[in-house]
Amino acid sequence: MDKKTIEEIIEHAKQEYPKEACGILVKKKNCIEIYKMKNISENPTNCYLTDPEEQFALFKKLEEENNEIFAIYHSHTHIDAYPSARDIELAFYPNALHIIISLKNFQRPEIRMFKIYYNSEKLTKEDVLNLEVFKKLKVEEVKNA
Ligand SMILES: [Zn+2]
Repeated sequence: MDKKTIEEIIEHAKQEYPKEACGILVKKKNCIEIYKMKNISENPTNCYLTDPEEQFALFKKLEEENNEIFAIYHSHTHIDAYPSARDIELAFYPNALHIIISLKNFQRPEIRMFKIYYNSEKLTKEDVLNLEVFKKLKVEEVKNA
C-alpha cells in the first residue's frame, strides 16, 4: 500500500475522532481508491457500522466496474490497532484485508493490516488474542511518526 493512501486514511480517522471512522479501499489499475463510509453505529465512539444502503450502492458500482474490495478500514479511538472480537465477527468478506488505525495516541497513530480468517464458530476473547485467527500483514511496519 502506498504512503499517500495510508496518510489519507489516517487523516480520515482523525477527522472523525472521537467517533470511529470507516471506509473501503478499492484497487484500481494504478492506484487505490478510498471510499469513506458513514459510521451509523449508535455507539460510534466504540464501534462502527456502515450504512447498508451506502454499502450496497458502492458494491453495485464496483460490480458494474468489475472491481473488488481490496480492504476495509476503520479506526480505534482508545484501543490498539488489533481486531476486536466484534471486528472478527463482522469480517464477512474473506477476500478483503482489514486495516485498523489506532488513535489511542492521537499524535502517533498506529496502523496495522490483517487478514482475518472467517470461522463460522463464535470466537471467544481468547481466540482473538491468539494470533492464529488473523495474520498481520506488511503494513504493520508502517507507523506514522
Ligand atoms: Zn475495531
